[in-house]
Amino acid sequence: MNNDLILQRLEQVKKIVAGRAQIMIVTKGQDISRIEPLLQAGHRLFGENRVQEAAQKWPALRLKYPDLQLHLIGPLQTNKVRQALDLFDEIQTIGRIKLIVAIKRERDKEMGRCAGFWLQINIGREPQKSGALEEDLPQILQAWKDAGLPARGLMAIPPAGQNPEPYFKLMKGLHDAFQVPELSMGMSGDYERAIKHGATLVRLGSAIFGD
Ligand SMILES: *Cc1c(COP(=O)(O)O)cnc(C)c1O
Repeated sequence: MNNDLILQRLEQVKKIVAGRAQIMIVTKGQDISRIEPLLQAGHRLFGENRVQEAAQKWPALRLKYPDLQLHLIGPLQTNKVRQALDLFDEIQTIGRIKLIVAIKRERDKEMGRCAGFWLQINIGREPQKSGALEEDLPQILQAWKDAGLPARGLMAIPPAGQNPEPYFKLMKGLHDAFQVPELSMGMSGDYERAIKHGATLVRLGSAIFGD
C-alpha cells in the first residue's frame, strides 16, 4: 500500500476529468494514513458512507486541515441526524420525508456544520437502495421546501452491473428540471461517462486507492 501510488492515481484522474467536474475522493474503509497524503497534496473534497466511521476519522483531520469538505454519501438513519449535521459539510443522501423532518427539527435546535443538502434519487428503482422514487418527488419537494433546506444538488447510484448511461440520462433530465447547482453521479468504473452526461461531481474510491 504505497501512498505515492495514491497520489499518482489522483494526478491521472485529474488529467482525465480536466476540470469538467469536481472530484470527490471516497474514503470508506481507508485509514487516516492513506487519507492524509491526499490532504497534504492539497485535495479537499471527501466522502464517507457511515456516520460512525467518519466520526472516528475526520475530527482529527479537520483540526489540521480546517478547509476540508466532507460529505455523507451513505444512508442516514434519523437517530444519527444530529451527529451527521455536526460532522459533515454536506449530506448527499436525503430521499425520505421522515429524514427531512428530522433534519429540520435538529437544525431548529442548533444549525450545526452542515450547509448543503442533496436529494438522492433511486434512479434504478431498486428496492434495497435508498433514495426517492420519481412518483414521490412532489411530496418530497414540498417537505423540503417546508423545512427550508438549501438544495445543493441531486445524487444517484445507478444499479450495479448494468450500463449506467440510460440512468445518467434520466438524472440529467431531472437535474435540468430541478435547477439545482450540482449533479453527483459516476464512480471509478464510469465517471468519464457520467461527466459526458452532465455530472458536476464524481465520487471515486478504487480509482484512487486501488481495489
Ligand atoms: C464506495 C462508493 C463510491 C466509490 O466507489 P468506487 O467504485 O470505488 O469508485 C461512490 N459512491 C458511493 C455512494 C459509494 O458508496
